[in-house]
Formats: sequence, structure tokens, C-alpha cells
Amino acid sequence: MSAYPSELARRAAEAVDPELVARLAHDLVRIRSVYDAELGTTEAAAASYVANHFRSVGLVPVVEEAAPGRPNVVCDWQGTGFDPARHRTLMFEGHTDVVTEGDPGKWTVPPFEGRVEGDVLHGRGSADMKAGVAASLAALEAVRAVAPDLTGRIRFGIVADEEGMMLGIKHFIKQGWADDVSGAIVAEPEENELCLFQKGAMRVNVRVVGVMSHGAMPYAGVNPNLGLADLIVALRDFERREQERLGSHEFLGLPWITPTVIRSPAAGEAQLNVMPEEAFAALDIRTVPGQDHAEIEAELRRIGADIERGTDRLHVHLDFFESRPWTQTHADDPLVRALEAVYKGVFGTAPRYGGVPGATDGTFLWAWKDIPIVTVGPGDRTIPHQVNESVRLSEVVASARLYAAAAVTYLSSDR
Ligand SMILES: [Zn+2]
Repeated sequence: MSAYPSELARRAAEAVDPELVARLAHDLVRIRSVYDAELGTTEAAAASYVANHFRSVGLVPVVEEAAPGRPNVVCDWQGTGFDPARHRTLMFEGHTDVVTEGDPGKWTVPPFEGRVEGDVLHGRGSADMKAGVAASLAALEAVRAVAPDLTGRIRFGIVADEEGMMLGIKHFIKQGWADDVSGAIVAEPEENELCLFQKGAMRVNVRVVGVMSHGAMPYAGVNPNLGLADLIVALRDFERREQERLGSHEFLGLPWITPTVIRSPAAGEAQLNVMPEEAFAALDIRTVPGQDHAEIEAELRRIGADIERGTDRLHVHLDFFESRPWTQTHADDPLVRALEAVYKGVFGTAPRYGGVPGATDGTFLWAWKDIPIVTVGPGDRTIPHQVNESVRLSEVVASARLYAAAAVTYLSSDR
């Protein structure tokens, strides 16, 4: 007995070409797609590689700039049986940008050489997430080979700027590309665990403004440093209350409120005998199901108002400049069911589950468009952004098989 739910799913998995997977991943790693505004480098060359790949297999990609020099690549394929009124659209989501390699001297293998040693592909972006992009592209070719008459559509959104403000996916959604997507696989490195949960994030800039004075006469001014210290202590208490209230989430762990940057004076030169006018802090807040970003914002504003109380000469300004809600996809969603159904066939084990410790592009598909997302892809979850990033090619091939088998399963039913 096959471990697959259908003969078609088995054939789709087996039709994945490991050499195509390896070639795509290798070629993409060799393109240094680090966004650096000062150096003028972007992910454009990686995007054009992806677009050219689609053209080479006879498809017509749409290339749209999410920001100057920062293109998204969107490409559709549909089976001959596809009827948009009845059938599903499965999205494969990936990003072309990678984080900086840092000091290349710290790498044992040059970060953009694309060196393969045995089963291991080395390089910046190998796991996060050129491997996932390669796996999804190869999965499509397998689907096309075994199910040309499929009753569904596959849409690729291979976008820019996941590592920054996620301009790429936001632009993709604003252009309407997400409107007819029924479900999305986010191909981030999650060790091929099915992740139905992603942690949320809030980003906040804090400015505490007092009154500057000579350090010999602190009574003549108001010290913003003390106001900021009070705020940070209050945030630590709030974090502890939230952690006690919610406990540790099975897949996401605890919620956190982390002051990551503290600067005083907020700008300009620090001097020992000058009490500055303004102090600055940046907060990295990570949220879990059971928390509400609006309530967190209200609590922080209450804490700020408490600190201001008693003087009209100290002001706490809070700028909530980014909100990425936690996500939770229903376990009985058809996309989850399709991935679970084919998992054993591909991996020989029952499905393994995980949680995504940070937000991904999928966060916005879920939060803005209610699209069920499953984050699953090749690569060690902790290796992205470190030196000596690498991925096992056998794991990338397994992802491609999972994607292909799940796609034909998911797209064989009406929506
Ligand atoms: Zn990523």
C-alpha cells in the first residue's frame, strides 16, 4: 500500500527532478540579493533569474516593482480543468532578498560561491530562502508533468523585501493578487515541519522628552533618562504579567517585550555634565495567540501616561510603526489536510508540526486577506542570518515533493 492518499499524489512527488531543485537553489545562492540602500544593491537580479526561469518553461511572469529597483515576480499556471468560479488557487510564497553576509572573512565557505559539498549547499540565503523558492519552482514542473488537466491554479508570489518592511508582499496584496488565493504555502526554512502558527510582532519607537540642564543643576531640568528607566521597568512588569497570563504556547513559546535600542541623548553628542533633553528606545514586541495588539498599545500608552503624571515637563511619545499579528491557521483547513495527507508518503513519518518564531510575508496574507497559510520549507530554523548558512539538498528535494503532492491533492477538490 502506498502511503500517499492517491496515485496522482505519489506520481507528483516522484516527478520532482532533484537536479532541477539543486540547480535552481545553487544559481539563486550565487546571486547576491542583499538590499543595501547605500551601496545601491537590491534583489533585482534574483527576481529576474526567477522570471527568466518561468519564461524558460513557457509561462508568462508579471514583474512589478514593490519599490524602486525591488521587483516582485508573480506567475500563474493553471490546469486545463481549471474554472475560477469553482476551483482553488494555491499560492507558493517566497522572497528573493537575503540578509547581509556580514564579514565574509568569518565564513568558512565564501557566502555567494554556491559551493556544494556532498549533500550540503553553502551560502547566504541557501536556507532563507532560496532553497524554498527552488523547491516550489521544481514542484510546479512536477505538477505540470503529471496533472496537466488539474482543476486548480498555482500562483507564485516571489517577492522583495521580506527581511525589511515586507514591502513586497504588501504590494502584492495591494495589487489584488491575493484576492483569489484560497490557501498559501510559505516556503520559509522550518525543517519541513508544518507550521500553523506564526508569532506576531510589534515595533515601537519611544521618545522621552524632558528639559535639558547642566549636570551640576539637575533640579533646573527634567531628566528623560529617569523617565525612560521607569518605562522600561514598567514594561518588564507588563511582560511578566502577560507571560503568567498566557503561559508558554505549544509552538510559539512565551510573549516578549524587548527594549533593543536605548540612546541618550536621542541624537547628537553625549556629554557627562549635560542632562539631555531627549532619550530614545526601540521596542521589539513578540506576541502569541491570546494577545491583542490594540490592547498592548493601550497598555503601553497607559504606562506612558503614568510616567508623565505629576509634571507637565516630561513627555512620553510612543510611535507604533509596525504591527504584524500572530497567525493561526485552522487544523481542519483543506490546505492543512492536504499537506498532512501526503506527509507520510514523502517523509515516511507522521506529520511533524512546528511554530514560526517570527513574522513572515504570510503574516500579511493571513491578517489582511484571511488566507489560510502553512509555513513549511527546507532548512534549519535557527540558521538564517548566521554565518555559514547552509541547507541539505535532500531536504530541499523532500520539500519539493511535499509541495507537488500537496498541490495536486489540494487542487483536485472544488473549493
Ligand atoms: Zn525568510
